[in-house]
Amino acid sequence: MMLARGLTIREAREGLDKGQFSAVELCKHYFQKIKTENKKLNAFISLNEEEALESARLTDQRIKKGSIKSILDGVPLAIKDNLCQKGRKTTAGSQILQNYVAPYDATVVRLLKEAGAIILGKTNLDEFAMGSSTENSYFGPSKNPWDLTRVSGGSSGGSAVAVAADLCVAALGSDTGGSIRQPASFCGVVGLKPTYGAVSRFGLIAMASSFDQIGPLSKNVFDSAVLLSFISQKDLLDATSVGLKWPKGAFLQGLKNPRKIKVGLIKESFGEGLDEKVKAILFKAIEILKDADVELIEVSLPHLNYALAAYYVIMPAEVSSNLARYDGIRYGLSRLSEERKEEVTLEEVYSLNRALGFGQEVKRRIMLGTYLLSAGYYEAFYKKAQKIRRLFTEDFLKAFSTVDFLISPVSPSVAFKLGEKTKDPLLMYLSDIYTVPVNPAGLPAISLPCGFADNLPVGLQIIASHFEDYSLLQFSQFLENLLKGRL
Ligand code: GLN
Repeated sequence: MMLARGLTIREAREGLDKGQFSAVELCKHYFQKIKTENKKLNAFISLNEEEALESARLTDQRIKKGSIKSILDGVPLAIKDNLCQKGRKTTAGSQILQNYVAPYDATVVRLLKEAGAIILGKTNLDEFAMGSSTENSYFGPSKNPWDLTRVSGGSSGGSAVAVAADLCVAALGSDTGGSIRQPASFCGVVGLKPTYGAVSRFGLIAMASSFDQIGPLSKNVFDSAVLLSFISQKDLLDATSVGLKWPKGAFLQGLKNPRKIKVGLIKESFGEGLDEKVKAILFKAIEILKDADVELIEVSLPHLNYALAAYYVIMPAEVSSNLARYDGIRYGLSRLSEERKEEVTLEEVYSLNRALGFGQEVKRRIMLGTYLLSAGYYEAFYKKAQKIRRLFTEDFLKAFSTVDFLISPVSPSVAFKLGEKTKDPLLMYLSDIYTVPVNPAGLPAISLPCGFADNLPVGLQIIASHFEDYSLLQFSQFLENLLKGRL
């Protein structure tokens, strides 16, 4: 099956500027498409029709006056439903926030609005971004548009599906251990996790704060670069925000081809556990790079094999702390005991609402995190995991003293069947083995579509050093061009 790719940001801009369609027409076109397709794909949790059409009207007025705000003015986008949008439901895929209406815009949402972008609606995700298939969403799983019996990947599955099925021009997701890259790989789109600190997390519903990062999902590398350039501003509302500096006029002629480059293949990531067909596709892309005169060497990261274990200690610890705020009083769901309204205790309010409002995977992680942070275990597990985090981060940094980029798979397999891994959390966790180490190390990484195995998309992961997001995008576009017509 081939999917119609639909408009990129640049094509949407051209169409709008040349008057081939108005912003309102473009917006209506997408809502029409979403209404027919979303029943089967379940990419969107909620739509934002009135507000979107109103902003499209304003874009059309600006186009008439010749005063558009930016390349994004009038471009229809989708955002993951863990990003706050003022006055809109922001559920994080959870029953506990089912009716929560955000009182303010996340910084990224504000920046997109200021650029004139149109936000069509909020996309589906695993509850609180915990998962690899969107099957943990309270609103049901998103389906993979290449094969409806398969998962979209997760947790930003809704955004990946919306881009792949052309239900929007591009989208935002969030990535704590692979949640942008893995669904991008499963759905055949580009997905970028920026350097930690590049994008403000203000207004992103926190999962594990020292790993979380917001980033784009798009139809090509250029669109991800455009979106990142808008959202990567330093923000006083997030103490970890640094922002990114972009070369002046970076986008006027498109991204430039990179200079002579040296790339490292991560030895530990191409061994056991990687599907042979996926491996063959990845090596085809690697051969193409070699033919283009890119120097390739094998690089070993000796502590990488401990990264998944360290992640599954630190992440739940942060989760248990971040999710303590959903107490049945302050946000969303708030139910007292039906039978004994008068004498219900505070503790009963907490446990009643948390028992009712959280799904199984979220509860599992809260319990695990609470246990890991308790006296005695803190030293034995949490502290040790932080030390391991330091060790494999140093492995990465050492590698970047000899190579410009590192290459690995995104996921060990193509999109798996719905229900295939839901009974076995460990099996599900293993589908992130190649993406997870990047987040504790704070590095930027991209998933680039590089071919098909069994008619399902395969993504290649390219990792760069801290704050090298721009060169990562340049190199990715270089490879994207080399792969053109060969996929
Ligand atoms: N799948 C991973 C997890 O469940 C990563 C999730 C994410 O990046 N938000 O923890």
